[in-house]
Amino acid sequence: MADILNCVIIGSGPAGYTAAVYAARAGMNPVVYTGPEPGGQLMITTDVENYPGYPEGVGGPQMMDDFRKQAERFGTQIKYEMISKVDLTGPVHKIWTESDEEISAHSVIISTGASAKWLGLESEQRLMNKGVSACAVCDGFFFRGKEVALVGAGDTAAEEATYLAKLCPKVHMLVRRDEMRASKIMQERVMKAENIIVHWNTETVEILGEEEVTGVKVINNKTNIESKLDVDGLFVAIGHKPNTDIFKNWIDMDSTGYLKVVPGTSLTNREGVFASGDAADKVYRQAVTAAGTGCMAALDAERYLTEKGVI
Ligand code: NDP
Repeated sequence: MADILNCVIIGSGPAGYTAAVYAARAGMNPVVYTGPEPGGQLMITTDVENYPGYPEGVGGPQMMDDFRKQAERFGTQIKYEMISKVDLTGPVHKIWTESDEEISAHSVIISTGASAKWLGLESEQRLMNKGVSACAVCDGFFFRGKEVALVGAGDTAAEEATYLAKLCPKVHMLVRRDEMRASKIMQERVMKAENIIVHWNTETVEILGEEEVTGVKVINNKTNIESKLDVDGLFVAIGHKPNTDIFKNWIDMDSTGYLKVVPGTSLTNREGVFASGDAADKVYRQAVTAAGTGCMAALDAERYLTEKGVI
């Protein structure tokens, strides 16, 4: 039988790699399974200017390369594979790669992240990072002084519209129904901002521009009248999906799939299984918060392995 690993980390965004740095330095010999998008969501981000320690900013892919190198420097093994199945009965947990290799581990750190939902337009893919973004806090700064549009009507959309309204002269909020899903207080903030223009019953038909966004074609789904908004950026804020499907029936999660942890820790309902990063955070979703919870997960796992006499 194959050896039992001390610590398997599933996912390779800021949470996974930070967990790896801490786990490797603590002598836990961690193995990171990167998942389908090594580096996670930051690989589709251009400049990151809000991660402390990079005074000039840094490209998302470069930052994740730095994270990976730092994890490897202390002996983390990195496997470019996807985990497709788990059995977290314990005390020894089992996980399977997509190629059906079975791995046994005393502790598992979940850092599988979340994926932004997209509208599914061809122009959205083509203009990604060229004016199309799914994160106002990350990218809003690049649009200061410019007119932008934002799709969505939930709390994220309301929060992002309010955030953008502090940077941009005009924010067009495109709401597909005649009401918003966002909480009352968030809606009030939107309504109070003089420079947020809410377009009700409005759907995005196409994002315009060749090399960068120059506008958005929208349609009013009540009148069927199409119109064009001249904007330099389009923010898509229609929700995220945590990448937690394989943990269903094993790890407690909320109705939208975010993993539940004991507040203030990374502990899940399963002994020896810890959750970190966006997979367990629907509120903050920042690289720096993900890294912070990755650190917590490694420290919690270390404590667990020490108590069990494994390390
Ligand atoms: P939600 O699922 O709550 O909202 C998604 C929004 O996007 C809905 O208004 C939906 O419209 C709209 N939408 C979905 N698909 C499309 C589409 N194809 N075209 C146009 N619009 C679309 O996601 P959120 O990310 O806003 O929130 C997720 C969870 O996180 C919620 O529970 C929220 O309360 C929470 N949250 C809390 C925050 C806080 O407390 N500060 C901040 C951010 C999120 P429709 O309403 O018509 O379905």
